[in-house]
Amino acid sequence: MKIVFIGAGMASLVASERLARAGFDVSVYEKDSYDNLSYDWHDDVNRDAFDMFNLPLPKEGTYFPKRNWTFVPPAERIEVSLHIPEKELDWSTERRILAQQYVDRAKDVVDFHFSSPVESLIVEDGKVKGVTVGGEKVYADLVVDNSGAMSPFRGQLPKAAHVTANPQKNEIFVAYRAFHKKADGVKDPENTNKAYLKHLGEEGISWSIIDPAGTVNVLIGRAGELSKETFDRAYKALKASNPIISDEVVRGGRTCIIPIRYPLTRMVADGYAAIGDAAFMTIPMIGSGIENSMKAACILADVIIKSNSVKKEDLWKYEVEYYKLRGADHIGIDILKRWLLGAKPADLDWLFEKGVVDDSNMAAGATGKLIVLSPKDLVVKVARGWTRLPLLLAMNNMLMRSKKAAKIAKRIPQTYDEAKISKWESKIEKLVYHK
Ligand SMILES: Cc1cc2nc3c(=O)[nH]c(=O)nc-3n(C[C@H](O)[C@H](O)[C@H](O)COP(=O)(O)OP(=O)(O)OC[C@H]3O[C@@H](n4cnc5c(N)ncnc54)[C@H](O)[C@@H]3O)c2cc1C
Repeated sequence: MKIVFIGAGMASLVASERLARAGFDVSVYEKDSYDNLSYDWHDDVNRDAFDMFNLPLPKEGTYFPKRNWTFVPPAERIEVSLHIPEKELDWSTERRILAQQYVDRAKDVVDFHFSSPVESLIVEDGKVKGVTVGGEKVYADLVVDNSGAMSPFRGQLPKAAHVTANPQKNEIFVAYRAFHKKADGVKDPENTNKAYLKHLGEEGISWSIIDPAGTVNVLIGRAGELSKETFDRAYKALKASNPIISDEVVRGGRTCIIPIRYPLTRMVADGYAAIGDAAFMTIPMIGSGIENSMKAACILADVIIKSNSVKKEDLWKYEVEYYKLRGADHIGIDILKRWLLGAKPADLDWLFEKGVVDDSNMAAGATGKLIVLSPKDLVVKVARGWTRLPLLLAMNNMLMRSKKAAKIAKRIPQTYDEAKISKWESKIEKLVYHK
């Protein structure tokens, strides 16, 4: 059986090797060159990304433990630091080195084509039959789409597959990312990893993180779009609050798109599977997707190895398992994220300053877990916030909706039954979009 991957993201790198070692004929087409693969910076990955399916760890010296986050609500009057135990903290991992490490491991069994952008899907008789690359048709039994959040390929699938073609405007995060030199003569602040929530009252975050390597990791991201004016304003404000940021960019300095929505409710079609950002597998609150895409890759590969089939009915098992592992909770987190993005900045300030939203709530959302309030938690929060009861009630309703949506999502139909899947999807949409 021939399998083609579009894009050499971490999901492709993991799944392609696993499938090839099991005897499948596997090719990966990547638009960038090997030397420019992935990003020239480090990002955070939880160790479990490697441990759960026994994948190779990053090379020694190419990662360092991340420090705890400090969240700064919009008015910047207080700072809320998380207390995630050190052994549970992510590893900040050099992305290009990790991606190249995985290519090097797999290249004896996987046919890699770098600098080879895929142009389109070949769709015949309602089924995906391959891809077009450099004007040539490459036929395959299965095409795995790992081409990122803005995949043009979802939109080329037959309508009957019901795969969402594009995210809505506010379901993507447009983020500038760069590593700046530290300003001379400025002392490191006590809290080194600061994320500004609804920075300047806008829909998004900005952060300033001081690396052990001696640079300042700067991100300015907004839901939907990041105009030059917004960027300039946010950068100026971030620098004013963090004089440690100098204007000299050492690495990065590009604008990227990160999905911040719940996963596709249809990841598969006949001869097609979406994975990673192309299936919206990031944690909707913070846009982390490396761990999820690596785990999804192992699930997908194992489902194919077991079934030896590319029919949507058989590939569906991959989606079911992913939803149980991660996807269902991400639906709940998406509801929380939408509420936070839409909240008035003054309300957010109040919730944090009164301790109604605390470090443990933020730690849950940031690590992809649902915020579930026990009756005791509720009493404590009401005691802290009784003067703004309508706001507390709205927050509580949202949290209940989030819990309900995750529960429904976990009840994903076990088999590919069109009527059951449509019903399941519409229940989820109703709760997420608050229809
Ligand atoms: C600024 C930033 C910071 C992030 N920080 C974190 C973090 O700290 N932790 C975390 O877990 N995640 C983080 N993420 C998210 C993370 O990058 C992704 O969720 C994760 O890598 C999964 O992405 P992917 O493999 O689906 O896609 P990508 O890593 O985006 O890979 C897609 C690949 O497809 C290729 N491609 C695209 N179109 C084509 C085509 N037509 N033909 C051939 N190839 C194509 C691209 O060149 C690319 O190599 C961050 C993302 C950004 C942008």
